[in-house]
Amino acid sequence: MTDFRLALATGNKHKVRELFAILEPLLPGLTVDQIGTTHDFDVAEPVEDAPSFEGNALIKARALADATGLPVIADDSGLAVDILGGAPGIFSARWSGHHGDDEANLTLLLNQLADVPTQYRGAKFVCAAAMVTPGDGAVSAREIVEVGAMPGRLITEPRGDGGFGYDPIFVPDGYEVTSAELSPEEKNRISHRGKAFRALAPSIVEALRNV
Ligand code: IMP
Repeated sequence: MTDFRLALATGNKHKVRELFAILEPLLPGLTVDQIGTTHDFDVAEPVEDAPSFEGNALIKARALADATGLPVIADDSGLAVDILGGAPGIFSARWSGHHGDDEANLTLLLNQLADVPTQYRGAKFVCAAAMVTPGDGAVSAREIVEVGAMPGRLITEPRGDGGFGYDPIFVPDGYEVTSAELSPEEKNRISHRGKAFRALAPSIVEALRNV
């Protein structure tokens, strides 16, 4: 039985590896199997009903921290399109009405923007990464949230096989390729999630040193 040192409120193994790659050099001795995920615990998924990325990341982190007694990291992310006033935003995963249907979400967004010229197609990916350390009476719980963004623009035809979600129509600032055409390492270097996780890393290190 693994002794988990922290948990990530996700079922997505890519996110675990991404977080581990950031923490490994900062926490010698940390192994990837010391990071638990939602699948490792018998915990009901909380309703994410906050009106912001930050709020929803905290809801997920608090629920898993309460259930496991471990320091928990959770992230919530999405695409904010300028001309849509920041939408799909927190509704990015279910913009078409079907949760997690990446293709339908992307197609709907492209159709909505069909007549929008290049200069008005600005957008950014946003990620809020939260850490919640459980309180135990003697020590009070700590909650920290860091936000990362990757600005860019939306093109009119999908390009690239990498990534997921809206990556095939998103060209990051300073690039001519979509984020679906970047290697995972390159995307992590500039991505909203990479930035938010890296900003949170010192707080995670401190929390783990104190347990
Ligand atoms: P989650 O919070 O990581 O589950 O992301 C919510 C939704 O935002 C996803 O289902 C995608 O539609 C979109 N999204 C978040 N991050 C990315 C990204 O890096 N690339 C493409 N789409 C993303």
